Amino acid sequence: MTDAHHILQHTFGYSSFRGPQQAIIDSLIGGGDALVVMPTGGGKSLCYQIPALAREGVGVVISPLIALMQDQVSALRELGVRAGFLNSTLSAAEVWQTEQALQQGELDMLYVAPERLIQPRTLALLASCQIALFAIDEAHCVAQWGHDFRADYLRLNVLQEQFPNIPRIALTATADARTRDEITERLSLHKAQQFISGFDRPNIQYRIRQKDKPRQQLLRFLREEQSSNAGIVYCLSRAKVEQTAEWLSGEGFTALPYHAGLPASLRATHQKRFLREDSVIMVATIAFGMGIDKPDVRFVAHLDLPKSIEAYYQETGRAGRDGDPATALLLYGLEDVVKLRQMMAGSEGSEEFKRHEQQRLNAMLGLCEITSCRRQALLRYFGDELPKPCGNCDNCLTPPDTWDATEAVQKALSCVYRTGQRYGAIHVIEVLRGSSSEKVTSAGHDKLSTWGIGRELGQDEWRAIMRQLVAQGYLDVDPDGFGTLRLTERCRAILRGEEKISLRRDKVSVPIAAASSKRRHQDIEPADRELWQALRSCRKRLAEEHGVPPYVIFNDATLRDMLEQRPTTASAMLSVSGVGDVKLERFGGQFLEVIREFEYPA
Ligand code: ADP
Ligand code: ZN
Repeated sequence: MTDAHHILQHTFGYSSFRGPQQAIIDSLIGGGDALVVMPTGGGKSLCYQIPALAREGVGVVISPLIALMQDQVSALRELGVRAGFLNSTLSAAEVWQTEQALQQGELDMLYVAPERLIQPRTLALLASCQIALFAIDEAHCVAQWGHDFRADYLRLNVLQEQFPNIPRIALTATADARTRDEITERLSLHKAQQFISGFDRPNIQYRIRQKDKPRQQLLRFLREEQSSNAGIVYCLSRAKVEQTAEWLSGEGFTALPYHAGLPASLRATHQKRFLREDSVIMVATIAFGMGIDKPDVRFVAHLDLPKSIEAYYQETGRAGRDGDPATALLLYGLEDVVKLRQMMAGSEGSEEFKRHEQQRLNAMLGLCEITSCRRQALLRYFGDELPKPCGNCDNCLTPPDTWDATEAVQKALSCVYRTGQRYGAIHVIEVLRGSSSEKVTSAGHDKLSTWGIGRELGQDEWRAIMRQLVAQGYLDVDPDGFGTLRLTERCRAILRGEEKISLRRDKVSVPIAAASSKRRHQDIEPADRELWQALRSCRKRLAEEHGVPPYVIFNDATLRDMLEQRPTTASAMLSVSGVGDVKLERFGGQFLEVIREFEYPA
């Protein structure tokens, strides 16, 4: 057995490497540099942690995510790894202690913030130690046009200058070629071997549904599928964040609001509770973002439409970082499009910028309305190909019904035209359905040839049609804020009868959970629930005793494996994924007791 395998099994408790891990680790142990692009949850940390342990000296990890360092270090310490960190949150005494340990060769791993690393004092300190490797995490932070740019990252080429013989590994989940080139250039990684994985997140199940009493939809989703799981609910406005958090709390959930308008101290408290406690739901605007690397977020729900696929992918990507099954649920409606379009029109920025934003929103809408695999569409948008439908999105699991809507669409489009392209969907639908409301008659629209030609469909059905016509670019929503609909060039062929159109049939009455027709890996069988809860309580108690988040004790995958294997001896416990030597010694006994009690009740 190689060193690397031995460490994988005994320290981390895993039986085999995933994907390119082994090749990356071998290359570093051999003294080479590496550039690693791997999706979130793919297992980047092991790529530097194992070589750091296998090589002489301390592995230095540079990361901008200061809020996470404490937990990362605690997690390593629970594995028996001697780890420490240096950043601005430490007191002078704590810094001194860590520096002492470093100088005396008592650390296997050191996490450092970039601004701290580039200080001459830190560099001098490192120069006096034996260094196993440098790992530059979140390496896309060097990209000046990226949204996570950190000026301090630009100075990390100092490592190449001052430590030319120490292997360096740069890691990121941002996959585009431009960012990759920028990393290579700015960090002088020209000789580095590149390990590029696509950025599919196969463990996330994507589901997109039209809104139909969204609160009820969310409630069912939470109650039926996510009980006592941690997750994020995204809303567009601060007011909605607060109302939603309050309502969920009233429904018995631990739901905390998070938006830029809250005092910084309250935001920090909520963030900390989200990270530390077991089943907190964070209700947030997009202000809740970078640095939220809680690994066991089991769902991300959007109650409003994100304004681009980029934003959607990034926000949903916060689910399932531990690689375990997770769900991304988006509820959207035509009113979202109206609101976003109005916001974009009112925003600052050039016409070109606004046009660009508009195109991105259109792409997002397209994703909402497609009837084929969502993941294939998502990846295609980012220039990646998935050869086969994924089998883990709503469209794959329950293929949507479509119908030939050509005639209905012709009616709808003519009605928009006849009413002068000056009204929103509600009015147009009233005219189609032959309403004699004040608004319709006073405009004289009850005299139009299109009045009452659409009585065969209900209001909801017409709304679904209008929404899809907007999403597919047949209708435009005016940015006036009133949701005024206008025809686009694309309409001609349909109106002339030269083109047919099929639309998706909304299954409003189908419960959200029906998307998962297969039993999901994540669900716990009713017969197992009691033991599952007992294992979780045990983990929670230990986490509190150790002052760490529950996943630092054992992550969800490990607990699930325990549930499946039900070990009752120490050696059986060792074969559970994620149980290594030190964790067995520290926590094994307590979990064994829980399982024994369950299997052989007194
Ligand atoms: P990333 O940094 O790429 O987002 P992590 O390094 O946090 O991903 O790993 C994600 C999860 O996968 C962690 O819970 C980690 O312990 C687990 N993991 C990584 N490599 C393996 C492996 N070879 N076998 C089993 N689990 C693994
Ligand atoms: Zn799919």
